[in-house]
Amino acid sequence: MAGLSLTANAFQILEERYLLRNLHGTAIETPEEMFRRVAKWISGTEKKNGGHWEEKFFGMMSRLEFLPNSPTLMNAGLPAGQLSACFVLPVEDSLDAIFTSLKNAALIHQRGGGTGYNFSRLRPKGALISSSKGFSSGPVAFMKIYDAATEHVKQGGKRRGANMGILNADHPDIEEFIFVKRDGTSLQNFNISVGITNNFMNAVNKDLEWVLKDPGTGHAVRSIPAGKLWKQITETAWATGDPGLVFLDNINRDNPTPGLGNIQSTNPCGEVPLLDYESCNLGSINLSRMVTENNGVYEIDRDKLAETIHSGIRFLDNVIQVNHYLLPQVKAITLKNRKIGLGLMGWAELLMLMEIPYASTEAVKLAEELMEFVKKESYKASANLAGERGSFPSWANSRFYPENKMRNATCNSIAPTGTISVIADTSYSIEPLYALAYRRVGILGGKSQQEVNGIFKKKMKQMGYWNAELEAVVLQTGTVKEIQGLPGRVKKVFETSLEIPWEFHLKHQRAFQKFTDNSVSKTINFPAEARPEDISDVYMTAWKYGLKGITIYRDGSKEKQVLQRCNVS
Ligand code: UDP
Repeated sequence: MAGLSLTANAFQILEERYLLRNLHGTAIETPEEMFRRVAKWISGTEKKNGGHWEEKFFGMMSRLEFLPNSPTLMNAGLPAGQLSACFVLPVEDSLDAIFTSLKNAALIHQRGGGTGYNFSRLRPKGALISSSKGFSSGPVAFMKIYDAATEHVKQGGKRRGANMGILNADHPDIEEFIFVKRDGTSLQNFNISVGITNNFMNAVNKDLEWVLKDPGTGHAVRSIPAGKLWKQITETAWATGDPGLVFLDNINRDNPTPGLGNIQSTNPCGEVPLLDYESCNLGSINLSRMVTENNGVYEIDRDKLAETIHSGIRFLDNVIQVNHYLLPQVKAITLKNRKIGLGLMGWAELLMLMEIPYASTEAVKLAEELMEFVKKESYKASANLAGERGSFPSWANSRFYPENKMRNATCNSIAPTGTISVIADTSYSIEPLYALAYRRVGILGGKSQQEVNGIFKKKMKQMGYWNAELEAVVLQTGTVKEIQGLPGRVKKVFETSLEIPWEFHLKHQRAFQKFTDNSVSKTINFPAEARPEDISDVYMTAWKYGLKGITIYRDGSKEKQVLQRCNVS
């Protein structure tokens, strides 16, 4: 079709996992028909001008300017189609409750969603069980059961469910939790994070004893030097990538509806803090398509960006309306708060187009300014929808009351865009490029081939540096750092993830978080030779920056990442 131009890689992903199939497993729609199905279904709730919105939604998806999270693309229009990617479920301290949530998680996974849980309400290992006079297995043992269930519930054969498991730093089983993934085999379907409070961080900084408490009674069980626990956390993260941290006080500082309860968990990749049973749907704008070009000089197209934000917010609010809710509890709280998460992808490619190095103050400043614009326009769009459709039902109990009418308790999230950025042929989320060349999977089992990033190639041509020799080196090494004769300024613009100091990774996270009401999913990538102290520094700085969470990955460390990125060799 004119206008829809997909890479071979995107086409293959859609064909294998997104397009509707008949009973024999053959795809029965084209990618264009998939976008049409989604646009029709999502605009179906419009009372007036449904046709107009269908075209708008279809246009921005088929031009790869905006894509909703994967479950919306896969399931829109299907009977019982679950469209949200993110859920949080409670884990209460009874066998009945533990297995009820496990069953609910399996159902959510089966239909394409991911689930987060805080296991801190469970009594510790060895605690007495009054009914059986036996002893509890503790939260880590139950997490392993959740993990095993996830392993065997494929999401409609498309992908495996992802989980976030949190245990608070004052739970008596915290050390077992910190070390659980060190064996390289346990909890492979979980990202794990320690639930951190400001009290704990102060105890670390002042070198105090830290008291571990029974969650049922609140009584002290034992104590451990806070610094020792911190060392265990950061050294294990250095070795395996896990655990990350979630900063619970920062999350609750921004909880838009504190009257409905404290937030104790996020979804699997951390970008959405949610109340128990709450769900959220996401969508991301492709920044590499929000530009104007004049003689090789690129600028952000603010008008186009604003229009896409307004349509994106409307799209995501509509998703809440046409969504199918498996569980009545999820339906109740989701409809009360109407949380959505509009985010971004293609940030690194935008910077490359504009010739701004990722590791620069200029980039960090632009990130803040850009996200402030996204937030402002998103809030305007949500306020307009409140005028048209009414505020979210718990608005009178929210921080927006009484001045600001809003349709949605939250509007923005920076998701990892692990698959949709590949469909949109751009860089992941707000991440720098991992390499300037990729090994693309072979089409339908064909030979895989090496390709350089399209925007890098275009810019190098425009700047007059492109030649066969340069291409050969980039294909081999993935970077331009060893290329002689290339000015330092140019090398800096095309630096890749492991060449960028962690300080700049984190400054980008802070810049986007500053104007993101939910949270920012970001992996702080380290080269293999990073030291455990670097991890301690980055975790501490993340807290000082007031972030909501932090995740690192050191190149070559033991753990396989839960979410495989599709096109990085
Ligand atoms: N997610 C999931 N399983 C996966 C990938 C993602 O359940 O294999 C959920 C998870 O909650 C994650 C969210 O989808 O935080 C968004 O992830 P991402 O942006 O990578 O998803 P995409 O829409 O690109 O598939």
